Amino acid sequence: MDTIYNLAIIGAGPAGIATAVESYLLGLHNIILLEKDQNHNAMIRKYYKDKKRVDKDWKGQQVELDGNMFFMDGTKESTIDYFDEILANHSVTLETHTEVQKIVKKDDHFEVFIAGGSIKAYYVVVTIGRMGKPNKPDYKIPPSIRKKVNHTLYDCNEDEKVLVVGGGDSAVEYAVGLSERNTVSICYRRETFHRANPTNQVNIANAIENEKVRPILGVDITALEEEDGKVRVIFDGMPPEVFDRVLYAIGGTTPSAFLENSGILEDGGRPMHDENYETNVEGLYVAGDITQESGGSIALGLNHGFAIAGHILKAAHEVTVNCIEGE
Ligand SMILES: Cc1cc2nc3c(=O)[nH]c(=O)nc-3n(C[C@H](O)[C@H](O)[C@H](O)COP(=O)(O)OP(=O)(O)OC[C@H]3O[C@@H](n4cnc5c(N)ncnc54)[C@H](O)[C@@H]3O)c2cc1C
Repeated sequence: MDTIYNLAIIGAGPAGIATAVESYLLGLHNIILLEKDQNHNAMIRKYYKDKKRVDKDWKGQQVELDGNMFFMDGTKESTIDYFDEILANHSVTLETHTEVQKIVKKDDHFEVFIAGGSIKAYYVVVTIGRMGKPNKPDYKIPPSIRKKVNHTLYDCNEDEKVLVVGGGDSAVEYAVGLSERNTVSICYRRETFHRANPTNQVNIANAIENEKVRPILGVDITALEEEDGKVRVIFDGMPPEVFDRVLYAIGGTTPSAFLENSGILEDGGRPMHDENYETNVEGLYVAGDITQESGGSIALGLNHGFAIAGHILKAAHEVTVNCIEGE
């Protein structure tokens, strides 16, 4: 119980795993990776559709990989297998079902609070992503239909009449993916899917042309109501329509409460950090999507992990040298 870990990482997504593994490879041991879900990469498992193509240069962001982790284009499944293998081959303790609530700086270490207790670590890296708190519409969702209004594909069943809301890559991929087994419409307030990457633009155009996905473009939704246990969608400028399920894919926001409770300052909705990803609290870092204004990528998260590992090792070395010299 009195163990003080050298490094605690909050969130086992790509950035968290990269931070752990790169630190391990640089010689830091006694690392713990804390994940609130039942397995690593919970976001990818929940938000990517099965067999989804995974691009290394996601949304056209060309990223040269700096560190030791090799990553290339693949699928949802090959990406998860890749991280499984990486974790199996490096001595990093992964604690699942462990949601971190806040981090408190003590004299020479941090106390990381989880349900029913806490753990201690000299350095902490927060890599909790942005999708733990998906963006929600401005209007209220009636409680009686909350289970029919979702943000992940997890909840969708086959043969449902689904409305996907949004116009970015996630929305397009959801709509095209679901159209294989469902009756799908996509509602976007703009007239075109210009925010989606070129491949997704082609995919959605084909799905629309082949009448697999019905577009509702240039239209806003003003309210959701219940009708016989289903969702009645009230559109601005067109008649209401009833769906079995409505799936919002309109991005996510920084979990501000978590950052505030941990003493991390924010600027414009993002945690403040220096060029080494260290926050205003010395020894406390942020990495991955949480640092990005709008979507990051797996490769970017891997690079953040490598950069942070190098900085922590340097800082830890300086502390050791100072201690030895001070003796
Ligand atoms: C639909 C979709 C498709 C995408 N396709 C691609 C693609 O093809 N290529 C690509 O490079 N990128 C893609 N991305 C983006 C990519 O998935 C993200 O940039 C990447 O996953 C970010 O990694 P991360 O480690 O910062 O955060 P995340 O992957 O979000 O991981 C955060 C982890 O932290 C855990 N967590 C959250 N809060 C806590 C807490 N309080 N305590 C403990 N654990 C916590 C979560 O459960 C999760 O496992 C896509 C994103 C989406 C939504």
